[in-house]
Amino acid sequence: MNFIPTRGYEENFAKTVPFSEAILNPGADFGGLYVPEFLPKIEDSFLSKNRELCYEDLAINILKLFEIDIDEATMKEAVSLYKKFDNPKEITPVVKIEKDLFVNELYHGPTRAFKDMALQPFGYILSNLAKKIGKKYLILAATSGDTGPATLEAFANKENILVVCLYPKGGTSDVQRLQMVTKSEKNLKVIGIKGNFDDAQSALKQLLSSKSFKESLEKNHISLSAANSVNFGRIIFQIVYHIKSYLTLLAKNEIKEGEKIYIIVPSGNFGNALGAYYAKKMGLPIEKILIASNSNNVLSELINDGIYDIRDKKLILTDSPAMDILKSSNIERVLFDKFGAKRTKELMDDLNQEGVYSLTKEELKILRYDFAAIDSSDDEGQKIIREYAKKGYVLDPHTATCFKAYERLKEKDLKSVICSTAEWTKFAPTMLKALKNSDEKKNDLQALEEFSKELDIEITPSVKALFDKEIIHKDVVDRNDIKPKILQFIQS
Ligand SMILES: *Cc1c(COP(=O)(O)O)cnc(C)c1O
Repeated sequence: MNFIPTRGYEENFAKTVPFSEAILNPGADFGGLYVPEFLPKIEDSFLSKNRELCYEDLAINILKLFEIDIDEATMKEAVSLYKKFDNPKEITPVVKIEKDLFVNELYHGPTRAFKDMALQPFGYILSNLAKKIGKKYLILAATSGDTGPATLEAFANKENILVVCLYPKGGTSDVQRLQMVTKSEKNLKVIGIKGNFDDAQSALKQLLSSKSFKESLEKNHISLSAANSVNFGRIIFQIVYHIKSYLTLLAKNEIKEGEKIYIIVPSGNFGNALGAYYAKKMGLPIEKILIASNSNNVLSELINDGIYDIRDKKLILTDSPAMDILKSSNIERVLFDKFGAKRTKELMDDLNQEGVYSLTKEELKILRYDFAAIDSSDDEGQKIIREYAKKGYVLDPHTATCFKAYERLKEKDLKSVICSTAEWTKFAPTMLKALKNSDEKKNDLQALEEFSKELDIEITPSVKALFDKEIIHKDVVDRNDIKPKILQFIQS
């Protein structure tokens, strides 16, 4: 199967590329993102045949449906990394918390956020491809907290890959920062930026468009790649866990074959939701995908009103920082799938030039055939955290945004699965504040200890150990000093 760019193509440029090319060079030549030429179908027999399979084997069977140019041995090595998860027999536990509500826990990997689900195997595949063609790639990442640790972890000691990760000093939780600055592998570099996440991201964009920077990379025989969710190599692995959750419900006799379910996703860059959409299109019986936003409500506005408007919006810092996003990249892939390349280009051009685009009434109807959405405030999230903690189930501030969608958006009496994207330990100060219904915000270590005592639950050992680790990456710089730091690193 080949891949095509969402905004179409012109003559003289490769029209379609194989998977390997799409993931090594994820920026399509004419702007836009790579998508598969078509989505393979899973037949009813696929679900029954794969019902008892372990996560790794299911992942391989799904990858095979895409007929990508990655050999089976490489796929096997890649998915074997799931063995690092808490329980190798149950990579993504599905927990029943209400009679018709389940939580798909996607955070049992090394960095305690769902980003590991895709980045772990993806990291292996990318490094393997780079090695095969004898090229060295640099991955530049700007992080608001979860992408950074998961990217560093995915590429630690991986051959032919260098990673530089920029984080806003003071803009991440202590746990997230420590997960980055304590990494000792030689192919990783972590740099703190004076400023917020926007500053880190715009510094990165500036760098990516700098000619002299590219020349310096070329001189050192290094090419640029990307590991964020614009890379289809991540999306393909995000289809798997949605299908797995359905199979788990089947295996537990919670649903019958063919019975439809709702999938509820806390959304930022829309990678997770896109995985669910693709699974639905491939034939998984999903009634609708319910999108949860926080106060940065661009996605819920689009799905309710048909307008994506960032003209008067300023990024709001919320309790669910991984969803604090105004330009949500992966919705573009849905637009392409629904309305084609020409219309997608029109809409994305409108967004880039005017800061807004509008769907027609008919288009909105088509979008709402698969999606419904609602946004949830920090106060609402904290109330959910408190209520469920008291009932004995601990969920993080991102996952908490999903409950309003569960309560308000279901049109039919069907079972729902919430995607839980992070472990509470990454956001302990907010968790404690929510639990105690207070305004006081403690630091991470105090909050971790107090929260765990209060509810008598363990602090995940790898998280606790972070506080005693040696700090390797001490640089905190102005944005102008990023380039020399990076050049120094790649030349060392
Ligand atoms: C990245 C992230 C999200 C948002 O996921 P998208 O795929 O970007 O929509 C939600 N929650 C957590 C904890 C995350 O790390």
